[in-house]
Amino acid sequence: MGHFFFENFRFLILCWIALGLITFLYLIYSKRRAPYGRHVKKKHGILIDNSFGWFIMELPALIIMPVLSLQNTDNPFVILIVFIWFLHYFNRSIIFPLRINTKKKRIPILIVLSAFTFNTINGLFNGYHVQINVSETNIFEFNIILGVLIFFIGMIINVKSDNKLISLRKEKMGYKIPNGKLFNFVSCPNYLGEIIEWFGFFILVPSIASLSFFLWTSFNLIPRALNHHEWYNEKFKNYPKNRKAVIPFIL
Ligand code: NDP
Repeated sequence: MGHFFFENFRFLILCWIALGLITFLYLIYSKRRAPYGRHVKKKHGILIDNSFGWFIMELPALIIMPVLSLQNTDNPFVILIVFIWFLHYFNRSIIFPLRINTKKKRIPILIVLSAFTFNTINGLFNGYHVQINVSETNIFEFNIILGVLIFFIGMIINVKSDNKLISLRKEKMGYKIPNGKLFNFVSCPNYLGEIIEWFGFFILVPSIASLSFFLWTSFNLIPRALNHHEWYNEKFKNYPKNRKAVIPFIL
């Protein structure tokens, strides 16, 4: 199995990207809303606690990529890459689920299983790439500094926007119109930030593995942002008309 994985690494990732593209086209043309958060309905099968679901589905990413990347190495560049990855996933799998104000909410087990599978495969691809292909280099090279910078700009946008949404929930369950900063331009700046983060990661570690992650993030979050945007417009008659879904002034 390991042998097959190594020998067909590029081919497998190309298939993975093709699957992402098919998923994207399906989500766009079917207008199907991924059934979690505001789009969850009773018909969506077995449901489990929302925060626990988030913890479980993000956990493989937190563990697999760092464990694979750090096999027998003290390469500072690898440590930098793993640090950045770990920072994101420590927030997403441990901090974020503890902070969301969705105590009575539940998430379909199907979503948890599919995200768990995604995070396992994505962690394997990116971890193996770093383990096999990343050699010692000067960590002050241009693409490394630029990649780190873009990643952190994305992360700040993502975390601050998630914070804003979490704070809207403080008083009661239910949804409000978010306003201020990037929310004045797009409905989902948290998704925009996440897409920017993984673009920065691609610049930091240019490879077909990191490209597949950036593409999958976009394939996943662009349709969801369009769904959220449409939902806001249906729910709130006074929703700002000039606001876009995820890319300011464009989409
Ligand atoms: P959402 O924007 O749908 O929700 C974020 C949190 O804020 C949820 O707890 C949600 O509650 C709450 N919330 C959202 N909007 C409002 C509102 N208007 N009023 C009150 N509360 C609100 O994000 P997701 O749950 O889809 O994603 C969470 C994070 O995970 C994001 O940072 C996203 O970027 C990341 N993510 C990354 C993916 C990837 O492929 N890399 C895939 C999916 C998510 P509720 O759940 O009840 O709606």
